[in-house]
Amino acid sequence: MSMIKSPAEIALMREAGRVVANTLAKVRESAAVGVSLKELDELAAATIAGAGATPAFLGYTPRWASVPFPGVICTSVNDAVVHGIPNDYRLRDGDLLSVDCGAFLEGWCGDAAISFIVGTADPVDQALIDATDAALARGVESARTGNKMGDLGYSIGGASRSAGYGLLADHGGHGIGRTMHAEPHVPNDGRPGRGIKLTAGLVIAIEPMLILGGKEDYFHDDDEWTLRSANGRRAAHSEHTVAITADGPVILTLP
Ligand code: MG
Ligand code: MG
Repeated sequence: MSMIKSPAEIALMREAGRVVANTLAKVRESAAVGVSLKELDELAAATIAGAGATPAFLGYTPRWASVPFPGVICTSVNDAVVHGIPNDYRLRDGDLLSVDCGAFLEGWCGDAAISFIVGTADPVDQALIDATDAALARGVESARTGNKMGDLGYSIGGASRSAGYGLLADHGGHGIGRTMHAEPHVPNDGRPGRGIKLTAGLVIAIEPMLILGGKEDYFHDDDEWTLRSANGRRAAHSEHTVAITADGPVILTLP
């Protein structure tokens, strides 16, 4: 399948992206101290269904997974970097919560993630989130014709590393369209001038995953999904689905 989408197809992906963004906004509004991850998942399920869309994560079973993902959203708390399962855990003051959401609308997929503090923020955690959002913004800014994938990766990883953060090993973004995870791989690090050319019509998910302390190793919980930093320190994840167009990058996962 071609990686290149027409303007009409990108317009449809924008609508899927809107559903994802609205769902994340609702989850964020409700993520207060004492609320359980499961309750947030139920809210996301209702929001996606209410928009006439279907969740992309629920039941997802990539090659490497032996258990289908059991949630509508991923809820990753503190040292969980990504793929956290929404369970009965109740949010506590100061928790760093990352929420990842994917949805299909009319056969097109949107994928986005946000990280934020529940209640009182430790400035170190807030700086980590700000650095992750800044890395995402640099990635989006680099998603332009004339650049190569290595330029995009470098824009995400270079400054994040110099600021002392680790980038989750072996993980990055991806092409997206009729399926959630498609070619090409979108690395969170790279060498300028290397890799494939970024061309108009390419739609990619850009998703930096930053860890405090500069370490990048991880392990999986017994649930086979939740991915935690090996150093036990907190992590943040931000993601947008972005179309590369002749007029520059267009973020599709906005409300
Ligand atoms: Mg995602
Ligand atoms: Mg993604």
